[in-house]
Amino acid sequence: MDFYGHVIDGEEVASLGGARFDTVDPFTREAWAQVALGGKDDADRAVAAARRAFDEGPWPQMGFAERGRILHRLADLIEEHAEELALADTRDMGKPLTQSKGNDVPRAAHNFRFFADHARLSTGEVLPMDSGHHTYTRFEAAGVVAAIAPWNFPLMLETWKVAPALAWGNTVVLKPAEDTPASATVLARLALDAGMPAGVLNVLHGYGPDSAGQALTEHPDVDRITFTGESGTGRTIARAASAHLVPVSLELGGKGANVVFADADLNNAVDWSIRAIFTNAGQVCLAGSRIYVQRPVYDEFLSRFADAADAMVIGDPQDPDTQIGPLASQEHYLKVRGYVESIESEGGKLRTGGLGDGWTVRPTVAVDMPPNARHCREEIFGPLVVVTPFDTEAEAVAMMNDSPYGLNAMLFTENLHRAHRVSAALKAGTVWVNCFFVRDLRAPFGGVGDSGIGREGGNFSREFFTEPKAVVMQISPVDADRSRTLS
Ligand code: NAD
Repeated sequence: MDFYGHVIDGEEVASLGGARFDTVDPFTREAWAQVALGGKDDADRAVAAARRAFDEGPWPQMGFAERGRILHRLADLIEEHAEELALADTRDMGKPLTQSKGNDVPRAAHNFRFFADHARLSTGEVLPMDSGHHTYTRFEAAGVVAAIAPWNFPLMLETWKVAPALAWGNTVVLKPAEDTPASATVLARLALDAGMPAGVLNVLHGYGPDSAGQALTEHPDVDRITFTGESGTGRTIARAASAHLVPVSLELGGKGANVVFADADLNNAVDWSIRAIFTNAGQVCLAGSRIYVQRPVYDEFLSRFADAADAMVIGDPQDPDTQIGPLASQEHYLKVRGYVESIESEGGKLRTGGLGDGWTVRPTVAVDMPPNARHCREEIFGPLVVVTPFDTEAEAVAMMNDSPYGLNAMLFTENLHRAHRVSAALKAGTVWVNCFFVRDLRAPFGGVGDSGIGREGGNFSREFFTEPKAVVMQISPVDADRSRTLS
């Protein structure tokens, strides 16, 4: 069986105590590889390597161009190893290979190219002051970054954190999710092949509580924690970070609302709404899991939507025709199954879908659910959507905002005024109008409420992964009183 080790200080290594765990393919439901199981000693070793690489260099001192060349080489190697990386994620968590290879791997390569170029082309500010001084800004690497990732888009979300952290001159300890460890080890091997110095990108495997994750977030030598995962875990990590006053970025859960107005282009609305909830078997923080449809088009939308859901191909993730694979693990399947089985006891009706073979769940549509049903309020993280009618725009906005989460929302309308009005009224980090998933990496990404703290992307990643510094210089001699002026 394949073995995936930690990568610490430029070497792929086993855990100090020799512990390992199996990673299970959720389609075959059998272990397909073994992975080093890290504990506190391994976390200490990984942080010490990252600390040394930061304090002794050369990574933080390299120019943006030289670091950028290495990050671009890594992007090229990611593309050359697309099959190996995509297969690792597909075997670990069951997403169709067409998606891991066609979407996640290219986006991982793009993350490195984008953030390398963004850092190189980034400009600071010069603030001329009336007092005869000027102030300018510098963005200095923060130090050792702990990056803790979830299992739903393993490589893609890991690189979303690692790429800006590295581009700005930090060193990193990456802890992938325990369900999806393999691609992170491959990524770190490729980084070494690309010429990245030892200790700059370290990978530490293990679980969260009482394991590698907790040890990393409680480590006194970590300067930044960037986390993507569940809101409850985010709270635990924020508490750990507060002990050392370490800045933390939290990208957490969601309960994406999606509203279809009567004036929408229904073909477009059905097409995006299907992708919004059933891509990656609904295991997407942004999943459009609550659809509100204006009453005049409710029946037509629901009928077209349910037909499109029924037409989706479920099966072997390695088969190129498959659109929906199994859920990522048995534990997660059992959680989602609970929601499917309780649609009626919570007061709703199953319109289509239900349980599939093995750990698969068919695209499932629930209707007539009371607004306080668990299905309308909790993040299910599976291919289950609730469709609800509404009458007025004000009612739709109130329903969409009635959630502890605020990651994203979608709206479908051909009315320009309504599009702007509703976008402004929604409690969400991202609003998509007549589309979904489209991302510009310069834009802020993150959520409000239980969906997180902070934003990443473009300059927002720069702010998080650096210590911005103000340098104040006297330009010409001035009298003492004026030089104390605060502009
Ligand atoms: P999770 O919170 O269970 O685990 C995420 C990571 O945190 C894993 O690596 C895990 O080992 C680690 N971890 C768990 N407990 C820890 C602890 N006490 N200390 C340190 N590390 C710990 O999340 P998951 O189930 O892997 O991922 C699914 C969740 O992620 C969903 O809620 C989803 O919405 C969210 N998510 C959010 C975004 C976003 O950008 N907002 C993107 C993708 C996924």
